[in-house]
Parts: sequence; C-alpha cells; structure tokens
Amino acid sequence: MVTEARGVRALRDQIRAGGRSASDVAEEALERAESLASLNIFASLDSAQVRARAAAADAAIADGSAGPLAGVPIAIKDNICTTGETTTCASRILGGFESIYDAFVVERLRDAGAVLFGKTNMDEFAMGSSGEKSALGVTANPAAPGYVPGGSSSGSAAVVAADIVPGALGSDTGGSVRQPAAFCGVVGMKPTWGRVSRRGLIAYGSSLDQIGPLTHNVEDAALLYSVIAGHDPGDATSARRPVEAPLLRGADAAVGLRVGLPREYAGAGVDPAVSGALQTMARRLEAAGAQIVDVSLPHTEACVATYYIIATAEASSNLARFDGVRYGRRTEHAGDIDAIYARSRSEGFGDEVIRRILLGTFVLSSGYYDAYYEKAQRVRTLIRRDFDAAFEQCDVMLSPTSPTPPWRTGERGDDPLAMYLADIYTVSANLSGVPAISIPLGHSEALPIAAQLMAPQFAEARLFEAAHACEALR
Ligand code: GLN
Repeated sequence: MVTEARGVRALRDQIRAGGRSASDVAEEALERAESLASLNIFASLDSAQVRARAAAADAAIADGSAGPLAGVPIAIKDNICTTGETTTCASRILGGFESIYDAFVVERLRDAGAVLFGKTNMDEFAMGSSGEKSALGVTANPAAPGYVPGGSSSGSAAVVAADIVPGALGSDTGGSVRQPAAFCGVVGMKPTWGRVSRRGLIAYGSSLDQIGPLTHNVEDAALLYSVIAGHDPGDATSARRPVEAPLLRGADAAVGLRVGLPREYAGAGVDPAVSGALQTMARRLEAAGAQIVDVSLPHTEACVATYYIIATAEASSNLARFDGVRYGRRTEHAGDIDAIYARSRSEGFGDEVIRRILLGTFVLSSGYYDAYYEKAQRVRTLIRRDFDAAFEQCDVMLSPTSPTPPWRTGERGDDPLAMYLADIYTVSANLSGVPAISIPLGHSEALPIAAQLMAPQFAEARLFEAAHACEALR
C-alpha cells in the first residue's frame, strides 16, 4: 500500500503519532512475508513471537516508555544469536540450535523497542557472495527476478527490498552487508572494526567481522547504527570511543568535501554502466562544491588474495568448535571420537564451507604458514598504509561496491574463483578496518547498481553525511 510509510524512521513516527499500532504493522508484515514465501528470505519466522513483541511495543508506547525504534519490525541475519528461536547460520550443523543469550546488538534493538522479525537466510556461515550457498536454499532477488540477491546477507537485503520490514541487520566480513545491499537496491553499511560489539555474532573471520544495518535510505541506516554502536565490556575488541551523531544535511555536506576516486578501482572489469553512474555522481558532487581528488591504493590487486587467505585461516580456527561434541549436530553413524568429529563435520557443513576450512587449514599448516598466512598479514599492513596515505588527501573515497550488477542465479555457482573476484572493492574496507556504505545509484537494464563510500576509521559521522549528500544528488 503506497500511502504507508516504508522507512524505519517514517514508520516509527507514524506508530508514535498513533497513526498505526505496532500490532497492525506486524500483522501486515507477517501477511506480506507469507505472500512472498517463495523468495525464501527467512531462515525462521515465528509469528506468535512477533505478535507478542508487537503487543509489548504497543503497551510501551501507551505508557510512555517507548524507545527510539518502538514498534518497528527489524529482521536479523541468522548468524546473530537471539534467544527463544533458532540461530543456524543457514547450516545443517547448527540445525535447531538455540542460543542461551542474545547478541549485544539484539539486546540494544530490544531495548530500543524494535519488534524482532525473524531470522534471515544467508550463505552458510556467511561464506559467499550470492545467497546461493545456504543449506536452506537460494534466496531470490526481489529487485531483479532471476538474478542473485548477493551475499552473504542475502535475506537481510531481500527482506528490505521486498518491503516486508524497513530494516535488517547483517554481518560484513568482506562485503556481506554492502554487496547484497547493492544487488537488491538498498542501503548497507559496515561500521569500523571494533565500533559494534560482536558478542553473540557467530564468528567467521574475527579480525574482519562487523555487524551493520540494511535499510531503504541513509538516514535509516544512521538511525539503526546509532542504536547498535558503542562500547560493550563483553567484547574485548569493542572500542571505547564515543559515537558521534552525523549531521545529515543533504547536498550541503558536499561543500568543501574532498572526495577521493581510487585510481585502481576504475580498472578493467568494471561494468561500463557502473563506471558511468559513478562518474555522473562525481560530477554532481563537484558541482555541489566537493573537490574530486585522484588517489591511489597501490596494493588493490593483492586484496582478494590477501582476504581469502586471512578469512579462511580465521574461519578454520573459528569453525573448529563445530564438531558434534562441543557444538553442532552430531552424526548418528559413528563409533569412536575421531569418527564422530569427521562424520559430524562432513555431514554438517556444505561444500563451500568445507572448501574454506581446507584452504584455511592449508595456509596455516607448517611449511606453508610463512608463504601464505604470514605473507598475507604483511600485505595487509601495506593495504592499511595505502588507506592511511589516501585519507591524507581526501575525506572519503567513492568507488563501485561491486564491479558489476547482479549476475544470474546459477551463473557462477560452480566457479568459486569468479565469485571471490567479485569482492574486489569491498574486502579492502575489512582488511583496513575502515567504515564503508553502499548506496543505490539507479539501474542498468533494470538491474540495481550502487556506489560505495569509505571513510577513515571511526569517521562514521562523516561517512553518513557524505552518503546523505550522494543520496540527495542522485
Ligand atoms: N563474499 C565474501 C566471502 O565469501 C564476504 C563474506 C562476508 O562478508 N561475510 O568471504
């Protein structure tokens, strides 16, 4: 229904003003989810719980204790722990797993009055760029039928794009919030590493993982970010720095802004429609008062290889706990302890996860450690230095999120390398730890295309302000 508010903020204001109750909103979202069940967006959705949460939100609104997200339904990626329902990472090995605690971000959302609205489908253990590597089956792209929704936060991007709920949380290790946002035509943001607590996020690559919001617009992303960001004593890697509120003022933020265009991000392989849209955006920023600066990130070529060594090494360690004994579903067919481990793991993990564990174990093994893992760590330092140097010349960097629009479902399924290479413009923000956001730029032959902005570490306020300017100039 067109007259209804579709954003997080718009919906919250409408509920607060008494225009609609949280229960009515939840009921309509449940109906819409039901009618769009074929998109395969949810790993689980418990309608009774959603109704109970919405009723509690209505009660809070009535007695004046409502938080900043009161009554707004928000979906959560299935690798973020929530009590009272399952958290499976879209993997057989965690089938039926119920966490005994809520993730920090989930506590924050509940405290803010949000109505938790289901767990979203994803590439298994967040390993993938297409939403196809899920034990629960492929998620469809609501913005481009027949094409992949991106990944790994496929369901979190699709649930917003399909207008089921106005916001969702995803996780981003190498682009998993930004790239599906780009493919589904929504906004997706990855905070600085350490900015958002990861307590209760099932780890993939611990030196890279961050949780971030997916929404229809920049303002809503900033709102969800403000709820989940900030120090958590329960996560030793969570930063103590104060969270600054952005001053969203549309195109005015472009005045005097130094926007860097990384030379190496305009290379071969970028779809002409994507580079054309970026050039148009750069010209508009300039016309609005920004200074466009040519910057260089000389180690860009090494980013994908570096990422896939570090991420898989960390994954092989993080996933060792899923052995059918400490964690994870146990095989029914084994005798001794080694057989239990081996069979539980080979039955429980999908092919892509097994490939990653093998790769990660290999690069960490003696004789190969120096050649791969240690070398990747050294290159990572060079990549970080590239970013430091570039940010001496500019305030934010503008680039593609993905070199191409979404590809057809099935097209790259058997070609892991082609899939990995598609992450070229997103993994560098994780390797360097900087915050980054993807915003829609429009369409090329009905397929969504997007731009990415990156800012220095902990400069999220500036990142949102610049993204808000791009949104206004679009
Ligand atoms: N596509 C990348 C990978 O498969 C990124 C995933 C992510 O950010 N979780 O590792």
